[in-house]
Amino acid sequence: MIAETPSQSTPAPGNRLSDPVSSAAPYTGSSAGTDAKTTPTPIPDPVPSTDPAPAAIVNPCVPYTWDRMMAEAQKLRNAYPELIDLSSAGKSVEGRDLLVISLGTGDRKILLCGAHHAREYITSSFLMKMVETYAEKASKRQSFGDFNPAEILDRVTFVIVPMVNPDGVNLVNNGLQAVSSREDVEAMAMVGSGYRAWKANINGVDLNRQYPACWEEKYDEVGRPASQNYKGAASATEPEVRAMIDLARSDDFVLSASFHTKGEVIYWADSGTVDLIDGVKDIARRMEELTGYELMPVSQKPSVYGAGFENWFRLEFSRPSFCIELTPENGTDEPHDDAKFDSLAWEKAKYFGFLLADEALKLESPYDKQ
Ligand SMILES: [Zn+2]
Repeated sequence: MIAETPSQSTPAPGNRLSDPVSSAAPYTGSSAGTDAKTTPTPIPDPVPSTDPAPAAIVNPCVPYTWDRMMAEAQKLRNAYPELIDLSSAGKSVEGRDLLVISLGTGDRKILLCGAHHAREYITSSFLMKMVETYAEKASKRQSFGDFNPAEILDRVTFVIVPMVNPDGVNLVNNGLQAVSSREDVEAMAMVGSGYRAWKANINGVDLNRQYPACWEEKYDEVGRPASQNYKGAASATEPEVRAMIDLARSDDFVLSASFHTKGEVIYWADSGTVDLIDGVKDIARRMEELTGYELMPVSQKPSVYGAGFENWFRLEFSRPSFCIELTPENGTDEPHDDAKFDSLAWEKAKYFGFLLADEALKLESPYDKQ
C-alpha cells in the first residue's frame, strides 16, 4: 500500500524541514516566513488537553511513514506543549530529520528508539502512540494500569527517536520510485523477499550492526551493501548511527531501550557487560511479568550480538539497555497488517515506557553523585 505520494516523501537535502529543525534549536514547526509566495498556515493555539477529550492524533493502524510521523509529532506538541518538545538528532542519508521527541519534565532521563530496521516501522507508530497516550493520561491526571503518568512525567523525561531509519522506511512503504538514488539501491544485494522487507538504511548498511562495540568481531555474511545484514566498511559510517551515538552521549541517560520486531522477546544482557550493570536482571524479570514477553538468554558471542545499539550503550555507559522485539512471529519477513496494531503490539507492550521510567527512578542516577 502506498500511503503518500513519492513527491511528499523525498525531501531534497536542505529544504523543507531544515529551517525549523536543527540540532541546536527546539523544533518549532513554523515555516519561518521565508517563502513570500505562500501564506504560512497559522499554527492553531494549543488545544486544551482537558475535557472534551481531543480526538486521537496518532494513527498507528496504517503503513507508517516519516511524513505522517512529522505531522503527528507537531500536532502532539501543540496539544501538549507543557509536556512535549521536538528537536532533531541529525539527518538521514537522504536528508530527513531524525526526529527527537522529549516527553516529560523530569531530571531523570531515559532514551527510547525505534525502526533501526526499515521493515520494523511498526515500532515507530508504537512509540508515537505511547507518546500520545502517556501525555494524554498525564494531562488528565488519570492512572494508566498501575502507573501514575503525571507523577512519572514530573520526575522522568523520555527522549524518544521513533524512526532511526526514515529513508529505509520510505523505501518499504513508498516503494523504489520514492528513493533519491534508485540505481544505487537496485545495485545492492537483495537478501530478503523484496523491498517491502528491506531492513538496512538507504546506503544498504544494517544500522544495528554499525555501532562501535565489538564491531570487528561482528559476523557479516553479505560483505557489501544489501537489503539487510551488511555491517558497513567500518563502524559508525552511517549518519543515523553517528546521530544516535551523539544523542546518547549528550545527556546522562539512566537506561535505554531499542524497539524491533518480531518475536515478543527481550534481549536484556550480553556476556561482555552483564556483570557490569547492576539491577538489570530484576528489570528484565518485571518486564517479562508485565508483558508476557520472553526473556532471552544472555547473548554470548560478540560475533552474533556485537555492534547493536543496545550492546554499544551497555559497553559505553555500563547502564541497562534493552532490545525489545515487539509483535508475534508470523513466518514472513514483511511487515504485519498495520490495521491489527492493537493486538500486534499495543495491548501487551503499552506499559513498557512507564515501567522503564519507574525502574529508572530506582536506579542510581548520575545526578545522585553531584
Ligand atoms: Zn530489527
